[in-house]
Amino acid sequence: MKRDRRKFHIHTFGCQMNQADSGIIATLLQNEGYEPATSEDEAGIILLNTCAVRENAVERIGHYLQHVKGFKRKHPELIVGLAGCIAQYRREALFGDFPVLDFLAGPDNYRDIASLVAEASGGCRVSRLDFDATETYEGILQSRVEPLTSFVPVMRGCNNMCAFCVVPFTRGRERSHPFGSVLREVRELGLGGCREITLLGQNVNSYCDPQSGADFPQLLEAVCREAPGVRIRFTTSHPKDMSPSLVDAMASQPDICQHLHLPVQSGSSRMLERMNRGHGILSYLEKIRLIRQRIPGIAISTDLIAGFCGESESDHRQTLELMREVRFDSAFMFHYSPRPGTLAARTMPDDVSEEDKKRRLQEIIDLQNTISGELLREAVGTVVEVLAESESRRSAAQLMGRTSTNRVVVFDRGSFQPGDLVRVLITGSTSATLSGKTV
Ligand code: SF4
Repeated sequence: MKRDRRKFHIHTFGCQMNQADSGIIATLLQNEGYEPATSEDEAGIILLNTCAVRENAVERIGHYLQHVKGFKRKHPELIVGLAGCIAQYRREALFGDFPVLDFLAGPDNYRDIASLVAEASGGCRVSRLDFDATETYEGILQSRVEPLTSFVPVMRGCNNMCAFCVVPFTRGRERSHPFGSVLREVRELGLGGCREITLLGQNVNSYCDPQSGADFPQLLEAVCREAPGVRIRFTTSHPKDMSPSLVDAMASQPDICQHLHLPVQSGSSRMLERMNRGHGILSYLEKIRLIRQRIPGIAISTDLIAGFCGESESDHRQTLELMREVRFDSAFMFHYSPRPGTLAARTMPDDVSEEDKKRRLQEIIDLQNTISGELLREAVGTVVEVLAESESRRSAAQLMGRTSTNRVVVFDRGSFQPGDLVRVLITGSTSATLSGKTV
């Protein structure tokens, strides 16, 4: 198939923020006269939008670029770019590691991608990797492929400097979108038929309107007023910014989903201090108690790191104890590996053996699987409200959707369509999914 130089294909790696950013990049390219390709085989421009948080991120992009290298051999005019956190983090060294790349763009440089494509078409290898503390992409509406659910970034960057994390080095300092522009976007999505909006930020609950100083609970309440009947989610929240007024806002607004992702990283206050997290376990547990008291039935998920620098067996056991106590619905679980430039990589020996890291991680995963399975079994026999999102992968006679608590439910569709809110009696569970019938 002939490749069209004006058509682009974006391959997104990583988090929801990156998915939202890919929508922003697509809009910016379309504003310059480029069009989305129907497949990567047709595209004259292939862009990888990357995330540096996960350990194997560079390996994963390496595998994908290997596949792109085959395209470029047949079509030398193909332009290949890499955007996002890995571009910012690894910088021009990437040109040496991956000769197939023509250009790099950091997270604050997406407005330059069209000119980078033009320069690369002239045969140059080019990069724009400047931080811009004012860039929020305000007013750039994402090009969206999914009409029923949408991500709306409300802030970018992070000021927290957790010892293990590269985000402050790839995405820069925190900056919030103006209140009015978030509300405009949310209103348009609601009027356009969107049924669920997820407000995004690296540290979403430290949102602060640059003009009025309005905080995240005020934003949440205003968003609910602006798009009545649309489910609202938000991620990622930092425990230290989980204020009583945010819990009040969640408890008082029925459109806010009963799910909170609240990363704890470790069950040991000693480790949290080493990680520079800004909170201890007692204050985390107090917040969990308040949240559960005010919002009964809420599902709480988390992030956990096994084997951070200096972690002892006792610290690890405290993580397992915390998991038993809180009974997280789900968790993103990793073993620690140092990221160059971070506080931990610069100042702390990576002194837990690979063997211990892997064993501890496996113990964490096994325990979480047990807890998640128990919680799903406990849901059997209850009636839940499900937002139908799509046909189930297995059968067109079934729909797949999610509860307000973010659990996936598959059910016989009857006359229901994606976008409908459906009451479902839960009749069965697997390790990750609920099944049921409409009532
Ligand atoms: S809060 Fe910590 S872990 Fe989260 S993005 Fe900021 S520095 Fe990284």
